[in-house]
Amino acid sequence: MIPAPIFAPEAFRLTPSEADLTARARDFSARILAPRAPRWDLEASFPADNYADMHREGWLGICIPREDGGMGADFRAYCLVAAEFGRACGATALTWNMHVCSTLWSGMLTDDLEMDAATRATHRARRSAHYAGILGQGLVYSQPFSEGGAAAAGGVAFGTTARRVPGGFLVNGRKIFASLSGHADRYGILPTEARESQNASRRDTLYLAVPADAPGVSVTGDWDPLGMRGTVSRTLVFQDVFVAEVAALMPAGLYFQAARRWPHMFLTLSPTYMGLAQAAYDFCIRYLRGEEPGTPPVKRRQYPTKQIAVAQMHVMLEQTKAIWFQAVTEAGPDPSKEQVMRAYAAQYSVMENAHAIAALAIRTCGGQAMLKSLPLERIFRDSRCGALMLPWTAELCLDRLGRDALYEHGETDP
Ligand SMILES: Cc1cc2nc3c(=O)[nH]c(=O)nc-3n(C[C@H](O)[C@H](O)[C@H](O)COP(=O)(O)OP(=O)(O)OC[C@H]3O[C@@H](n4cnc5c(N)ncnc54)[C@H](O)[C@@H]3O)c2cc1C
Repeated sequence: MIPAPIFAPEAFRLTPSEADLTARARDFSARILAPRAPRWDLEASFPADNYADMHREGWLGICIPREDGGMGADFRAYCLVAAEFGRACGATALTWNMHVCSTLWSGMLTDDLEMDAATRATHRARRSAHYAGILGQGLVYSQPFSEGGAAAAGGVAFGTTARRVPGGFLVNGRKIFASLSGHADRYGILPTEARESQNASRRDTLYLAVPADAPGVSVTGDWDPLGMRGTVSRTLVFQDVFVAEVAALMPAGLYFQAARRWPHMFLTLSPTYMGLAQAAYDFCIRYLRGEEPGTPPVKRRQYPTKQIAVAQMHVMLEQTKAIWFQAVTEAGPDPSKEQVMRAYAAQYSVMENAHAIAALAIRTCGGQAMLKSLPLERIFRDSRCGALMLPWTAELCLDRLGRDALYEHGETDP
């Protein structure tokens, strides 16, 4: 059965294109993603079958510009679709986010950034080649940025390095928690361009697509986590890996500009968890009404304590939807300080509330509802992971909100 939209097109004044995309996303979720979700979680295996179907139905190219053959979705349209996918399968939505960002960031986002005409022409030719591989061969991209130090939080330069050699770069380093490891065709990494003459700087961050089968690339470590088990986020090691210059997803120096001028780019992990918040609420309603498939038709909705808990969940869900919708609506280049703070608040709200709603749903529905044969306990475990995702972890959002509320740019205490 196809559920009602998370964001009703009329109520949220979606564009016709957004209404169409989200309707198709709900249909895809019901047909493909939801029925398979238990399997990836149980096996901690990558949802490869989902990716084959996403390729067939065009979803790998959602943010590829129309002139390159993609769906041409903008930031908000993508977020709305990703929330619907996350509602059905958290691990697929989260890994799909890594893939889509490779196209959104190299596509629409870079169109808003400054570069000279020749650099832009070269960038457009390179990204078109990436897009042709995605649309034609179904190539899947990942985004392994984390290294276990302060770099993924934006504090220091990445320790993974790319040294210029004729025709490209030699990459050395290690990325941890690399979702899609062993399954992506291209690892979209952020290394620091190595220069003999100066200390490593975040300004020298490159964004390169490393072919997964390049000599020197290896996947290490186990994968048996609490939640988001289908992401298969193992460790990637790069040892003298040659990456051609044409494999760059952004021109040199542009990632640094993007992170400063387009900060909402880091909000793209949140749609998955917006969907999980809705999924936990949906389950609770179905269960208390005695309508959850696979459970006896016992109604539990008549108890006042259950009604109060559902009311609390409803309030939390509406609050979360409201701030998230506003934040994804105002995403764009050079946002005001207020808009950036709202984006932090939205990220915090989604990541924390998704899990709080899931926890309340378990308490309210009771013991039978947390059996592994039902989706709620998977939603509970998956939703716990959201607050941990760098660079905008729940803690870091609070840090920045507190600082920015009390200090103007450049202000210090004597
Ligand atoms: C399911 C899952 C999938 C993931 N997939 C990917 C992926 O595809 N690509 C990728 O790059 N990463 C991915 N990550 C990694 C994620 O973004 C974080 O890098 C990772 O969770 C950090 O773990 P850690 O123990 O090293 O945290 P630490 O770096 O030790 O941080 C612990 C906590 O301390 C706080 N903290 C960290 N740095 C600072 C700082 N400078 N100042 C103040 N507080 C700080 C943060 O709140 C953080 O949560 C994934 C994580 C999970 C759970």
